[in-house]
Amino acid sequence: MIGSGPAGVGAAEEFRKQQADVPVRILTADCDEPYERPPLSKEFLRGETDEVSMRPSSWFAERDLELITDAPVTEIDTDARTVTAGGRRQEYRHLILASGASPRPLPVPGGGRALQLRSLQDAQRLRASSQGAQSAVVIGAGFIGCEAAASLARNGLAVTLVAPDAVPQEKRLGTEAGRRLVTLIEQTGARFSGGVRVREIRPGAVVLDDGATVEADLILAATGVEPNSAAAEAAGVPVDQSRIVVDAGMMTRTPGVSAAGDVALAFNTTAGRSLAVEHWQDAAEQGAIAGARAAGDQQSWSDVPGFWTTIGDTTLKYHAWGDGYERSRLIAHGDGFTVWYESGGVAVAVLTCNADDDYELGEGLIRAGAAAPVL
Ligand SMILES: Cc1cc2nc3c(=O)[nH]c(=O)nc-3n(C[C@H](O)[C@H](O)[C@H](O)COP(=O)(O)OP(=O)(O)OC[C@H]3O[C@@H](n4cnc5c(N)ncnc54)[C@H](O)[C@@H]3O)c2cc1C
Repeated sequence: MIGSGPAGVGAAEEFRKQQADVPVRILTADCDEPYERPPLSKEFLRGETDEVSMRPSSWFAERDLELITDAPVTEIDTDARTVTAGGRRQEYRHLILASGASPRPLPVPGGGRALQLRSLQDAQRLRASSQGAQSAVVIGAGFIGCEAAASLARNGLAVTLVAPDAVPQEKRLGTEAGRRLVTLIEQTGARFSGGVRVREIRPGAVVLDDGATVEADLILAATGVEPNSAAAEAAGVPVDQSRIVVDAGMMTRTPGVSAAGDVALAFNTTAGRSLAVEHWQDAAEQGAIAGARAAGDQQSWSDVPGFWTTIGDTTLKYHAWGDGYERSRLIAHGDGFTVWYESGGVAVAVLTCNADDDYELGEGLIRAGAAAPVL
């Protein structure tokens, strides 16, 4: 396995369940043993926990899984079936590419001054910078940006969240849902500034394209990720939109090579099309399927993707194919809401806040290709 996120570890675990004796090696660029990313923008950033291990240290040795950290793979030779990490070539019989994604650099002058948040090391740096800081600007209002802005505000910083959309994630979730996100962000004490782009980052200040300059002790760029597919692409493994193309069993068209998780563009048998998904649980599931296939078992990816996000004290739950919608409608409940999304007369997504029944109903309707109840 290349990568020690949920896809790589999920693949190793499932392979080992089915093949007791074949050596399994996980090569990872991470310096740390496998850890959970979701808490890094939430409990960890708020200083409520330091414990983010994905598995106890002994877990890998107990299963005879060899974990090699700080070993970025720089070259793959799919004819010779070798990978090169740290100048050392290693042979494989089956290779599972689970290299995830990395933060996209902010393409403006001084963009490199902004902190980023993907790895545990990034999170440690961000948390250390936030201690003693009075103010922060978070650039980008995707879920990681919203969560981090809320956590920093909870820590007492004066936080401004800036994004090009008028409301957070307007294109992905629609205007009504975006307005609810603004409310959740503002309830944490952070300020949302929409409809603006960053023109430049100077030491201690963010210059916006409306001419305003926002001073801040801490600047975080949460402006999306790029799949880590370069080594695979250079090796001739088929890639589309920077993602490694795989079938429902997570196999690439290159013999002996699978891919899973954020780096993959995977075929979902229920949706009947390929999907790009960036969620923890789906990465773990795809990894398990890749591990099973490598061990000779036939499994296919059929689940409706989904994830939870927590902004301040409020958790939103989302099921979606994730490749767009035609119409949406928000239904307000007493202390929450549900947004239904449809395309071609069938439900393609549901976003819920304090509405678990709708979350479950929505998954079933999306899976069945049935109409949403209110559109
Ligand atoms: C702060 C934060 C909060 C999040 N919160 C949520 C949440 O609440 N819910 C949710 O569903 N999702 C959340 N996500 C997204 C989720 O973490 C990802 O979708 C998931 O981690 C993807 O898993 P993966 O195994 O595909 O890739 P990753 O977890 O990115 O793991 C990739 C691994 O590959 C390694 N690697 C990369 N390149 C190489 C190389 N060349 N050689 C060797 N190793 C390499 C990396 O070091 C890493 O170990 C969050 C992400 C972040 C950053």
